[in-house]
Amino acid sequence: MKAAPPPSPQHTLRSAKALIEAGLAPATERTALEHVEARYAVAVPPVLAALIEPGNPDDPIARQVVPQAEELSTAPHEVEDPIGDQAHEVMAGLIRRYPDRVLFKPVLVCPLYCRFCFRRAHVGPGQAPMLPPHQVEAALDWVAAHPEIREVILSGGDPFMLSPRRLSAIFKRLDAMAHVEVVRIHTRMLTAAPEKLDQALLEVLGASAKPLWVVAHINHAKELTSQAVQAVRALMRVGVPVLAQSVLLRGVNDSVEGLGGLLRALLRARIKPYYLHHLDAAPGTAHFHVPVEEGRALLEALRGTISGTAMPTYTLDIPGGYGKVPLDADHLQAIPHGNFPGMVKAPDGSTRSFQR
Ligand SMILES: *Cc1c(COP(=O)(O)O)cnc(C)c1O
Ligand code: SF4
Repeated sequence: MKAAPPPSPQHTLRSAKALIEAGLAPATERTALEHVEARYAVAVPPVLAALIEPGNPDDPIARQVVPQAEELSTAPHEVEDPIGDQAHEVMAGLIRRYPDRVLFKPVLVCPLYCRFCFRRAHVGPGQAPMLPPHQVEAALDWVAAHPEIREVILSGGDPFMLSPRRLSAIFKRLDAMAHVEVVRIHTRMLTAAPEKLDQALLEVLGASAKPLWVVAHINHAKELTSQAVQAVRALMRVGVPVLAQSVLLRGVNDSVEGLGGLLRALLRARIKPYYLHHLDAAPGTAHFHVPVEEGRALLEALRGTISGTAMPTYTLDIPGGYGKVPLDADHLQAIPHGNFPGMVKAPDGSTRSFQR
């Protein structure tokens, strides 16, 4: 008779040992996984642990959060700062790569740790979890002194790891800056720990005078639990729209069914897909790599077969810090000029002309 699976854990699992005991990682891998754990942060929160099918090596949630021995090999092209954040750091916690918007990282911990994290060398328990208060103030002073900044993007780590009181203090300062038009929050919390979006946090979000936009990191339809969907509705009730950013990942969402299923599930949850990121070359993540041709072919296969509102932009964050650019397949094959028509590729793959 098959032994009953261990009951779903009540708190976040933070070690190879805890994952093995919960039946979420094979005991035979213990030594390798302990080496991984020594190098990169591990956290599997209860909501996600409950979604994992024990013993299924292809489980799309397990693949994202349960450490794997492959993480121990760093490929030659992989680097600690794949998107060149450091080159654009104007001061601790503040990264400016574009003239009108700035990324602010007041916290360097997450409710879970993605095995493919692009900031894995800089997030997790090995780091100071919060930016010290004087550096938070210094960063906000910098924004206040730069009237060309229209958007402040709170990132990290996960900004929703901050207490409602601390978040409120940040919003109050931003509210006082006339030139800041919008505030964006990049978070994993909606699917990792939706219970964190409680009344106290929602009140703080609802009280922001600046329009807030949430961009939720979500990679598989299974992550959209009823709690996650409720959290989206709660955000919308306090006036906060929700977009999604996803990472194209081998073995998680790299098929027409997997990616199409994710995009449709996002729409059903009232979330607009925004970016589909090409994998950043962080150390020990090569097993998640999906080649660009394959990513383009996937999006091409989806175009015309799913709602246009579900289509994200397939995006590369250029290594070295040169910013984000779309990698989508080009549909424009010739630009019309004079008597020559323009040529485009139609969703069915045929070539069509247009006059101007
Ligand atoms: C990704 C990113 C942004 C936001 O880019 P959008 O294209 O507006 O989503 C801003 N600043 C930095 C440093 C970034 O990495
Ligand atoms: S949520 Fe983002 S910052 Fe946090 S571990 Fe995942 S990829 Fe890294």
